[in-house]
Amino acid sequence: MKYYSTNRKASDVTLEEAVVKGLAADRGLYMPHNIRILPASFYEQIDQLSFQEIASQVADAFFGEDVPAETLKQIVYDTLSFDVPVVRVKENIYSLELFHGPTLAFKDVGGRFMARLLGYFIRKEGKRQVNVLVATSGDTGSAVANGFLGVEGIHVYVLYPKGKVSEIQEKQFTTLGRNITAVEVDGTFDDCQALVKSAFMDQELNERMQLTSANSINVARFLPQAFYYFYAYAQMKKLGREKELVVCVPSGNFGNITAGLFAKRMGLPVKRFIAANNQNDIFYQYLKTGQYAPKPSVQTIANAMDVGDPSNFARILDLYEGSHDAIASEISGETYTDDQIRETVQLTYDETGYLLDPHGACGYRALSENLQPGEVGVFLETAHPAKFLHTVEDIIGTDINIPEKLKAFMNGTKQSVPMSQNFMTFKEWLLKQ
Ligand SMILES: *Cc1c(COP(=O)(O)O)cnc(C)c1O
Repeated sequence: MKYYSTNRKASDVTLEEAVVKGLAADRGLYMPHNIRILPASFYEQIDQLSFQEIASQVADAFFGEDVPAETLKQIVYDTLSFDVPVVRVKENIYSLELFHGPTLAFKDVGGRFMARLLGYFIRKEGKRQVNVLVATSGDTGSAVANGFLGVEGIHVYVLYPKGKVSEIQEKQFTTLGRNITAVEVDGTFDDCQALVKSAFMDQELNERMQLTSANSINVARFLPQAFYYFYAYAQMKKLGREKELVVCVPSGNFGNITAGLFAKRMGLPVKRFIAANNQNDIFYQYLKTGQYAPKPSVQTIANAMDVGDPSNFARILDLYEGSHDAIASEISGETYTDDQIRETVQLTYDETGYLLDPHGACGYRALSENLQPGEVGVFLETAHPAKFLHTVEDIIGTDINIPEKLKAFMNGTKQSVPMSQNFMTFKEWLLKQ
């Protein structure tokens, strides 16, 4: 399968090139030329299949032309070694719990899949080492670092802002060692992102090192996120509740919801989508006005969605050929303040006993305010509430259970490289690695 750039000024590439490069030369995002519609028989018996079996068929539609069947199946099975259950929260509203992986957030799926696919390409070609640069405000760094841990031929540099990620988040990528280096930048998340962007644009650096990104701009991280939309549908079908399905996605960079839109293009019977935003409401405003007006992000308690210029918006525009009407007919939006998020976590916990994290709370609330009679809603619970321990404990006023997986990270020893936000300093250091 060939991939084209959303800016259409760069030439088409193979899957391998798209994965190794991350971003196209014209700064566009890669899109597959074809989105294959899966056969009716697949959807008819989908509720009889396991998560891995479903994901293998979806993976074959995306990557089957480029990766041998046995290898692809192995990658899928290695990636999805944890469950993604649907849990009923209240009446017509269900939570798709994406937090049972190693770092307790949905990014584990894409992080692990990308690590294994890139590892396969490197082994096959006997390529020189690939260096993954990733800037993180918390969750991306941990999922990518844990996904790539121990993969031969790949070194990961996680850049994060000193003093601005929670202790739990920091421990998830600073305690690993091996092929993972944590770089503690004296600056903000934007400074970290600026260092990564400058590195990708620096000619000398790119001649001397093979650099790539593991953010959701990379097709190998973004497309596998479609898997769990199919599995959510399968579970709802098993419950006899798959008709008039509305899927709600707490969104920041819009990679997650875009994967859901791809699933729909492949024939998945989802009636419509809702994108739930925190106060960073660029997409919500776009739906209302037809104008896309990026602006600097503001800090919220759902911080993984603090994005002022969502990169995957380019993919959504491309998918709907730039038509605002077409986009607005399949996706609606909501935006919530921190106070509304707190209120939703508290009320839902009191009324149902279900503990939402601040991101999932936006998704749950958007469904409870928007579902029409006859519709059934599934929201993506994107992270475990214990990842936002102090925020959530402050809201509900009691201590919460910390899963064993998180506790294990807490016991590790932090190792990081202090770094200034000056690009030349970073570049010189990187060249010496
Ligand atoms: C990354 C993240 C999001 C936003 O996902 P996008 O694909 O960037 O829209 C939402 N919730 C959590 C917990 C996240 O880590």
